[in-house]
Amino acid sequence: MKCVVAGAGMIGLSCGIELINRGFEVCLIDPDSPGSRTSAGNAGGFGVTEIMPMAVPGIIGKMPRWLFDPDGPLSVRWRQLPVLFPWLWRFYRMSSAVQTQRIARVLASLLQQCTEDSRQLIGQAGLQHLLRGEGAMTVYQSKAAFEGDRLEWEMKQRHGIRIERLDARKVRELEPALSGVCGGWLMPQWFNTVDPYQLAAGLADRFRQSGGTIRRDAVQRFAITGKTVAAVKTSQLQNIEADMVVIAAGVWSKALCRQLGERVLMESERGYNATLSDPGIRLKRQIIFGEEKFVATNIGDRIRIGGAAEFAGLHARPRYDRCVRLVNIAKRYLPGLNSEQAENWMGHRPSTPDSLPVICRSGHYHNVYYAFGHGHLGLTMAATTAKLIGQLMSGAQPAMALEALHINRFS
Ligand SMILES: Cc1cc2nc3c(=O)[nH]c(=O)nc-3n(C[C@H](O)[C@H](O)[C@H](O)COP(=O)(O)OP(=O)(O)OC[C@H]3O[C@@H](n4cnc5c(N)ncnc54)[C@H](O)[C@@H]3O)c2cc1C
Repeated sequence: MKCVVAGAGMIGLSCGIELINRGFEVCLIDPDSPGSRTSAGNAGGFGVTEIMPMAVPGIIGKMPRWLFDPDGPLSVRWRQLPVLFPWLWRFYRMSSAVQTQRIARVLASLLQQCTEDSRQLIGQAGLQHLLRGEGAMTVYQSKAAFEGDRLEWEMKQRHGIRIERLDARKVRELEPALSGVCGGWLMPQWFNTVDPYQLAAGLADRFRQSGGTIRRDAVQRFAITGKTVAAVKTSQLQNIEADMVVIAAGVWSKALCRQLGERVLMESERGYNATLSDPGIRLKRQIIFGEEKFVATNIGDRIRIGGAAEFAGLHARPRYDRCVRLVNIAKRYLPGLNSEQAENWMGHRPSTPDSLPVICRSGHYHNVYYAFGHGHLGLTMAATTAKLIGQLMSGAQPAMALEALHINRFS
């Protein structure tokens, strides 16, 4: 069976390896080098504890303050608002207590598989040396913010996630580089990659060694016969025949889905980071700044400060001043941080309003499958997504109920 996968980010690469393991002949198509887009510069965290969606009760009330704060975690380019409106409306509807609890349950059942699936995929590719398992810590500078996030921590505990409440003294003992912190939470289950780009590149090598093909080209259109996609047509005017097609092109999947008659609520949630090559301090684990919702993490000998959510579409110029702001805020927590040598980056998180990915078979075409929309957790969920897609494509029973992840929730 010949399978074409559109996209060679973490999701496409993981699907490619899984499908080869299941006996498919696989061709990945990507206009860029494998793993070089959003999957390249992320924070490298396997956030297996992150069951809270972005839309939570009370978030709509906080948004105006964030939007007018240049150091705040959220920004919207106003020109983008009309395009964004359907997404925002659905986001608003997802922020009720009932929806938040429903989505957290789905995320919990997805995330509980991610540790084993990721370690297995990465181990099988011989890349276990790119993983570190030191956990993560969320820290707060104000008591109000610490208490204000209580719902999140209670919810995590209810779902059996191991967390440990820390006072200021304990935080300092665990992470001596931190300062001015009143408390936090330790999440020992997190693990990290030392470099997300190296990991993706390693998976691409493994995929090729196992017999897979990667073509540097872009899927543009589809050749359709009845309810079957018979071939994909590329920007280099190639007609690539396929028995099965997987759309795994991150945020760019939306345009491809439109051609297949699918409505998708997914927007680019642009995130920024600065990677400091001479940081002057060392962290023992990934740090999440609870108030501002961004992170500091070791990437090899460097430290990456990353986060922010900017809704500005796919084509607006990056605003790298946001990277400088992130570093300045990080210095409030990490006064020893040296930011003289910083490399700035922006990536497009493929974000759905319910924070759930799309993992399903198409309702329109029997040989088309979707694997995109992983928002903040694409690295974390890649291996499990691949396993679920492999199960669907082989006709096996998926490891979890997939109704909530179906593309038809947007129509
Ligand atoms: C600042 C930041 C920090 C993050 N931190 C984390 C983290 O710590 N942990 C975590 O789990 N996640 C994190 N994420 C999210 C994670 O990076 C994404 O969810 C993940 O990279 C999405 O992977 P993907 O393969 O779907 O998309 P991408 O990596 O964007 O890959 C999509 C691919 O599709 C290709 N493509 C585009 N158009 C076409 C076409 N027409 N035909 C074929 N191919 C096409 C693109 O070239 C690209 O290579 C972070 C994101 C950001 C921005």
